Amino acid sequence: MAAITLKDIVKQYGDGFLAVKGVSLDIADGEFVILVGPSGCGKSTLLRMIVGLEDITAGELTIGGVRVNEKAPRDRKLAMVFQNYALYPHLTVFENIAFPLRLQKGQFTEEQVREKVEFAAKTLELQDHLDRKPANLSGGQRQRVAMGRAIVRDAEAFLFDEPLSNLDAKLRGQMRTEIARMQRRLGTTTVYVTHDQTEAMTLGDRVAVLRKGELQQVASPRGLYEQPKNLFVAGFIGSPPMNFLPGTVEGSTLKLPFAAAPISAELAPKLRGKELVIVGIRPEHFADATLLEDHKRASGVTFTAPVDVTEWLGSELYAYLPFETNPEVATTLEELDRDLDGEGLRTQLIVTLGSETKVRDGVDA
Ligand code: ATP
Repeated sequence: MAAITLKDIVKQYGDGFLAVKGVSLDIADGEFVILVGPSGCGKSTLLRMIVGLEDITAGELTIGGVRVNEKAPRDRKLAMVFQNYALYPHLTVFENIAFPLRLQKGQFTEEQVREKVEFAAKTLELQDHLDRKPANLSGGQRQRVAMGRAIVRDAEAFLFDEPLSNLDAKLRGQMRTEIARMQRRLGTTTVYVTHDQTEAMTLGDRVAVLRKGELQQVASPRGLYEQPKNLFVAGFIGSPPMNFLPGTVEGSTLKLPFAAAPISAELAPKLRGKELVIVGIRPEHFADATLLEDHKRASGVTFTAPVDVTEWLGSELYAYLPFETNPEVATTLEELDRDLDGEGLRTQLIVTLGSETKVRDGVDA
């Protein structure tokens, strides 16, 4: 059993700063949970409290049903993988992985140490590098050695603190897949801190979004994307981010900066009794109207818009539409079948306001 439960966890630092303001979170045995949020939101503090490197000011932390607030880090049976791996340069890969076992003097025979290290090395495909020193490994291999250390400890849970942030983009992608694969293979409860939303959205079973020490929402990646609970989560998850536009309800029409849309039956209940609203539209809900078949056009609002910048990413194209009321609106289009000239372009676009469109009262976030 290695469920981790946080109940009303608070962290107040010595200078009085409240870094974590009453966070409750149930992490199931074997679950992979991501803590994500902007810099300074308290995610590392939370992780460090779980592992025991930081005292808990108030609240209760249990691991496998046992209260561990007062337990020393070594008694919590957790394995932490840091950003800088903390490998010993003078030791071989074998000895680096074996290190946590050697620390528990006399607990393991040489045979048991070898068995555990070899199992970890095999899981991480490091068998051929056991005699090398860290200096002779690639960044990704070093990362795996750090993970190997976590594996040999038979830890109840793995805790990762931004483990990939030192790697280049390509390696980061590879390691992300490896971590996901390893976690699935071992089925160990994992808590992973990142500010990278691709990692957050691709790695975890569930993602916990933090802001200024408070939990905003905990949900599956899809749940966060499709049902964000508030404007912060809606704007934080998704790239390019969701567009927020001022809207005015006038009878059965929703006036947006670029068009007046008839209020559909889907949107009507959300807009009842409201006047000024913020309308959140994902970039991919815009399309190039000239490329759509007639029956698809019928469900959207067509408008002509200026496009001042486009970014072509191979599989999709981002277009930015400047509006007076809104500096820019990002859209993702499959293609824009005309090139931009120096003057920019005006093109006919269509926006579909559907059930996933977020509408919110008031103008302030
Ligand atoms: P990042 O992504 O930048 O690492 P984070 O979300 O992990 O950010 P934390 O490191 O948990 O953030 O810090 C949360 C807040 O607590 C920050 O405002 C930070 O300045 C503050 N903080 C961290 N350590 C201390 C400390 N020892 N004393 C006082 N304040 C601290």
